[in-house]
Amino acid sequence: MSRFRQLLARVLGPENVLDDPGDCWPYGYDNSRRHAPPDLVGFAATHEQVKDVVRLCNEQLVPLIARGRGTGTTGGTVPLRGGLVLSLERMDRVIDVDADNRVAVVEPGTTNQSLQDAATRKGFFWPPDPTSATYCTVGGNLAYNSAGPRAVKYGTPRENTLGLRAITGDGREIRTGVYTTKGVVGYDLTRLLIGSEGTLAVITEATLKLTPLPQARRAMTAAYAHVQDAARAIARIMALSVTPSILEFVDAAGIELVRGHAAVQLPEGTGSLLMLEVDGPADCIQAAVEAIRWAATGPGLLEFAAANGPGQVDQLWAARKALSPAMRELAPNKINEDVVVPVSRIPDLIDGLAGLSERYRIPIVSFGHAGNGNLHVTLLVDPEDPQQIRGAQACVQALFRLVLHLHGTLSGEHGIGIEKRDYIGLEIEPVTLELMRRIKRQFDPNGILTPGKVFPVTPDS
Ligand SMILES: Cc1cc2nc3c(=O)[nH]c(=O)nc-3n(C[C@H](O)[C@H](O)[C@H](O)COP(=O)(O)OP(=O)(O)OC[C@H]3O[C@@H](n4cnc5c(N)ncnc54)[C@H](O)[C@@H]3O)c2cc1C
Repeated sequence: MSRFRQLLARVLGPENVLDDPGDCWPYGYDNSRRHAPPDLVGFAATHEQVKDVVRLCNEQLVPLIARGRGTGTTGGTVPLRGGLVLSLERMDRVIDVDADNRVAVVEPGTTNQSLQDAATRKGFFWPPDPTSATYCTVGGNLAYNSAGPRAVKYGTPRENTLGLRAITGDGREIRTGVYTTKGVVGYDLTRLLIGSEGTLAVITEATLKLTPLPQARRAMTAAYAHVQDAARAIARIMALSVTPSILEFVDAAGIELVRGHAAVQLPEGTGSLLMLEVDGPADCIQAAVEAIRWAATGPGLLEFAAANGPGQVDQLWAARKALSPAMRELAPNKINEDVVVPVSRIPDLIDGLAGLSERYRIPIVSFGHAGNGNLHVTLLVDPEDPQQIRGAQACVQALFRLVLHLHGTLSGEHGIGIEKRDYIGLEIEPVTLELMRRIKRQFDPNGILTPGKVFPVTPDS
């Protein structure tokens, strides 16, 4: 490793390489809270440096793990087999915001928020908006196809990215996609790289599709007596011709946590809450609110409220954003899944979750991006309760089987990483999985890019 360190320092500059185990230690974590120490950490500043580093790692067979800001939740940046963590956080330039063509070109270490700020100055936004926007990078957003509340109307990174520049695992420079909003020349490698979790190539530049900022927006809440009442309303709302720009769901246990973080006033007996927003031309907003009110009205509706300005709704959003960290305080060993089902099957998922919670005696909280059918299902596992710890994995497996039975998918936006690699075979049949492994070998023949992730570990992997 010391020879490799010297060569790496030659590419990046010695001041941009960490080798002291104490300095490297923090780069072994991400938000999955798993940890494995890297041998070295390097900070790249340019595309050329990334290319040279990947080539070096490929020659020397050193594992390379691309890292944005380490906010990912499934262990994608944890260097399971040591090697080099290559931090892209210093490649943080917004290269261009081209208003005439609604395009932004950025380096991968640009935070989602810096991109939004630059786009806003020209009257645009980039729709993917993970709650972690202030910290997470566009590179991480692309590698995990991370979305957020606005995906219900505007889509995920896959729908909002035109092209990429990247270095494959064997050091080849590639450009994918187009600069235009149409294009069908060759295979769609842009969509292949998005969501590939750093296993195929290191992204060094992204050409992103911007959307004009809406003239107006209006927030609403709909409180229901029972979770099932809210679940049925979601399908009614999503069948409207007006698509909400946000449609979030919180169950009864989540509401209790929300109450702990904000002085929110909800009707007595609220068992479930929908948080919605519509956006668009100012003179269309009231009609959109009325359409949503009409669809939200049904059995169990206790209150429908449209905000007249900031205030309670802002507080609610702040509390919704605080839900995940709040649950971590409550249950440090929580297991957080981000399953997706078709919106019409959300009531079946909710029923199934109640059954699983009872069967495995584990409290389950669910909240999330209901308009996409994407629920963050959280198992609040008590670390002091051996029965719960034993049951947790069986409960997760039963959850996944339920989701697949409902025509859903195991992950909506958090990816597979280490956390779900052993379950991927539940969803993807062997032939397709083998094709994916072969694609990986085409991009990364020596398997240096983030080894041990996404695919189940086999004796030869
Ligand atoms: C409080 C909180 C709230 C969150 N809310 C959401 C949410 O609403 N929606 C959501 O989807 N996620 C959410 N997340 C998860 C996380 O923020 C996202 O997955 C985010 O996109 C990760 O970005 P990052 O820069 O931290 O990437 P990292 O965690 O550093 O990396 C993530 C993956 O991307 C790969 N990668 C990073 N950069 C590159 C690159 N340049 N080229 C190739 N591969 C690369 C890594 O190898 C890894 O596999 C949340 C996390 C936290 C802590």
